[in-house]
Order: sequence, then structure tokens, then C-alpha cells
Amino acid sequence: MINLYGVELHKLEALMEAEGQKKYRATQLYTWMYEKKAQSFDQMTDISLSFRETLKEKYTLEIPKVHTRQVSTDGTIKLLLEMNDGSKVETVLMRYNYGNVACVSSQVGCEMGCSFCASGLTGKKRNLEVSEMVGEILCLNNELREEGNGERVSHIVLMGTGEPFDNYDNVMDFIRICNNQKGLSIGARHITVSTCGIVPGIKKYAREGLQTNLAISLHAPNDELRNSLMKINHTFPLSSIMEAVREYISIAGRRVTYEYVLIQDVNDSLGCAKELVDLVGDTEGYVNLIPYNETNLCNYKRSPQSRVYAFADYLNEHGVNTTIRKEFGSDIDAACGQLKAKIETK
Ligand code: SAH
Repeated sequence: MINLYGVELHKLEALMEAEGQKKYRATQLYTWMYEKKAQSFDQMTDISLSFRETLKEKYTLEIPKVHTRQVSTDGTIKLLLEMNDGSKVETVLMRYNYGNVACVSSQVGCEMGCSFCASGLTGKKRNLEVSEMVGEILCLNNELREEGNGERVSHIVLMGTGEPFDNYDNVMDFIRICNNQKGLSIGARHITVSTCGIVPGIKKYAREGLQTNLAISLHAPNDELRNSLMKINHTFPLSSIMEAVREYISIAGRRVTYEYVLIQDVNDSLGCAKELVDLVGDTEGYVNLIPYNETNLCNYKRSPQSRVYAFADYLNEHGVNTTIRKEFGSDIDAACGQLKAKIETK
């Protein structure tokens, strides 16, 4: 059985033609799935009964089950979703003033093994299917529909569990379904892929012809420090990442965002800030400083607020556009793999 939520529109057109149908059948199905929110083929009344039977034999319209739901006082919704094989995945909805941002997971677990990250500690179980990532958005949209304000997911960041470029092809199909006007209809500039620095992935992404965004998880301004935080840096050191970033900027014509988690006494000195300016200053990128979310799985501590501000001020004063990430859902387990970790260690 093929889950239709995992089939990108051009691929669906090819599938329909292989079924002896007209190409437009694919758009018709998309309209039922994404616009009219049909839950079964029986609802698709402008498709002939006999073809609906064929569809039922070969395709499904399954979405993940909501295993656990947490809603924060600030409106943040965190879902622990259960997939067909019992795998559990976190997805989060954050309410910014500019829209509803979904933080999407791309894998069950992660094998990048960053020393400060709760998601990486249990290793990777498997990649998520395209339909499962689309399912994350559909589940969040269902939550929003319950609220009855006519809202939906308007922005996507691939910053949940997993490394998007370690599941490259599925992530690209997911993005195309999100971005398609007949699909989830989310503007390309509202979609951000975040990577720990998989160089071949960055180079390939540069050539996709997408107007989506790229975020690079730097977290350290030199190889020695970065090696100690992110084991992927042994494979792709900073010089190779920066070379790929420059290539991305020139080919895709887009700026990048550098993410930098501030961990007390590890990477939050003004010396680090200076090195960071030297590293990225001439790329016209943005730095997004992330106050570290402490987890009981490792001993790192969050930098005090005064240091976060001092670090941000230094960068801004030296010509690097810097913002401090707004925090959501601190009263629930919204941060970085915490809900799944809690449920699974019970
Ligand atoms: N694998 C991708 C995307 C997933 S993580 C990547 O590395 O970019 C999204 C961001 O959250 C990354 O920048 C990651 O380093 C960061 N992160 C992980 N654990 C964190 C924690 N405990 N507190 C704050 N940020 C964290």
C-alpha cells in the first residue's frame, strides 16, 4: 500500500498515468486531501466509483496517531506522534506574531551524536517517510482546526529530531509537498532546513532551485571546540562547511542563518564571539543565538542571560546581524526531544 500523503505531485501524476488515468487526476486527489481534507476515498465523489475502488486497493490516507499532547500557557503545542510501526516522534507548534511555526522531525532518533542534544543520545532508529513528515503538519493543523480560529501551519522549520540531510530525498519531497499550492501551500521562504553541516547535502540543496531557507548549526567558531561538541565535525570540519555555505549563497542566491547554542563556559566567551565574527562575518548571514535547553541527560548549563546579551551585542557591533531565539513552551517538555525522552524512560 502507498500512503498518498507521501507522494509528491509530479510523482502522483506519473502514478495516475500509469493507472491509465488523466494527469489531472493527481491534482484532483490533492484538492480532496489538502483543501477539502477528505479522510477517505469514499468522500471523493467526483471520482468514479470504480476508480475509487482501485484507489482503495492500492493507496491509503493514513496520518500518525497522537500519543501524547501537551499545551503550554503560551499556546505552544507539543505532540508525541505514534507511527505505524510504533515509533514515536515529536512535533511542536510555536505561535510567533508572524505565524504558526511547525518544528518538524525528520528521523526517529538521530545518529549525529552531538554531545549536548537529547535527540542524539539514543541513536537513529530509522528515517521518517515523506507521509510521516506530512503527517506531522496534518496533525498540527488538526489541533489548530479544533481551536476554530481558521488558523493553520504557516511556517516550517526542520529543527525537530533528526538530521534532514541524512534523509535527503524524503525531506526534499516533503518540502515540495509543503510548498505546492495544491498541497500544504506553505511559501518557500517560510520553510527552513537546519543541518549540523553535512557538506554534500548543503551542496545538493544549493542546486534544488528552491527559494527555501538554510540554517547551519555551528555552535562553535573553531574546529577544536566544535570537535568536542559535534562529532560530525571530524568528517566535515568548519573550513569545508564554510566553503559549501559560500557555494550555496552564490548558487541559490539566498542568505543563511547560523545557529549557535550558548552553553555556559563552553562556547559563550567574547573570545568565541570574536572568532565567530572572523568565521562568518563576510557571508552576510544571520546569527541566531539559542539559549541552551538543559536536559538531565548531560551536564551542560545554559549561559546566564547577561552573557547571552553580551555575546549578541559583540556580534551586532561587529557587523554580524544577530538575534536571540525566543523561547516557547518552557512549562511543558517542549524543548529538544524532552517529551519523547520522558515517555520512553518511564
Ligand atoms: N540536525 C539538525 C536539525 C535538528 S536540531 C541540526 O543539527 O541543525 C535543531 C537545533 O537545535 C540544532 O541547532 C541543534 O544543535 C539544537 N539543539 C539540540 N539540542 C539542544 C538543546 N538542548 N538546547 C538548545 N538547542 C539544541
